[in-house]
Amino acid sequence: MKRFILILFLLLAAREIRAFGLAGHAAIACIAEHHLTPRARANIMRYTDHRSIVYYASWMDEWRRSKGYEFTTHWHAGTVDAEFRSTPAVREASGAKGDCVVAVEQSIALLSEYDKLDDSTVLVHIKYLVHLLGDMHCPTHVYYYPDNMTLGKFPVKLHGVETNYHKIWDGQLLDSRHKFWGFQDYRHALDNYTDEEIARMTEGTPVEWFEESARRCREIYDWVQPGDELGQEFYNAHAPFAEYQLVLSGYRLAKVLNALFDR
Ligand SMILES: [Zn+2]
Repeated sequence: MKRFILILFLLLAAREIRAFGLAGHAAIACIAEHHLTPRARANIMRYTDHRSIVYYASWMDEWRRSKGYEFTTHWHAGTVDAEFRSTPAVREASGAKGDCVVAVEQSIALLSEYDKLDDSTVLVHIKYLVHLLGDMHCPTHVYYYPDNMTLGKFPVKLHGVETNYHKIWDGQLLDSRHKFWGFQDYRHALDNYTDEEIARMTEGTPVEWFEESARRCREIYDWVQPGDELGQEFYNAHAPFAEYQLVLSGYRLAKVLNALFDR
C-alpha cells in the first residue's frame, strides 16, 4: 500500500506545474525565434545542439526533479504583494523558495558577458530564459501574498471531470480549444501584431512585465469558485486571455535574447 501511495505521489508530482503545456511553451519559443535578429540568432545557435530554441521550450520542466537541477524546481512561479509588487521583501515575507523573476534576472546578468562564459553555462541560461519568460506570464504561476498562495490548486470540474483550476491554465485551456494545433499553428494564428504594437508590448523590464502580468492575471480568480463546473463557455470566454499571455511571452523573450546576443 505504501509503495502504491509513493508511486501515486511521484506521478502527481511529475505532472504538477507545466505552465502553458508543451505546445504553449513551444509556441512561445517559436514566436520569439521569428523575432530574433539575424545576429542574435547566429550567436545563440553557436551554443545550441539543435537548430531551434523551440527544442528547449520545456527543458526546465523535464529536468526540474533530476539530479543536479533540483535547485531550479521552485523557479517556475513568482510572488507579488497586494499592490502587485515583486520585491525581495515580499519574497522573504512569503517564504518563497525560488522565484521566476529572480532566476530571469540572474540569467540576464550572467549572459550580459556571455562570451566570457563556457559554452555549457551559456546554453543552460538560454534554456532558463526560453522557459521562464513563459512561466512568468502563466496566470496560475503567480503567488498573491498573503491572500492567495494556492496557485489555483483547488478543485473544479471540467466537462464533468474532476481537475483543478491550476491545470486548466497549465495547458488544458489551450489544448482543448485547439486540439489539433501544433506550436507553429499558434505562432501563425497569434503572431500578428504590428511593429509598433510589439514595441509597446515589450516596453519595460522583466520585473515590470511580471508585476503588470500579475495584476492582469489576478482577475482569473474572480471567474470561478472552488467546486465550479466549467465547460465550453469558460473556454470561449477565456482562451483569448491565455493566448494573449502566450504571444506576450514570445515577444518579450525575443526582446531579452536580442538585447543579450545581438552584439
Ligand atoms: Zn515551468
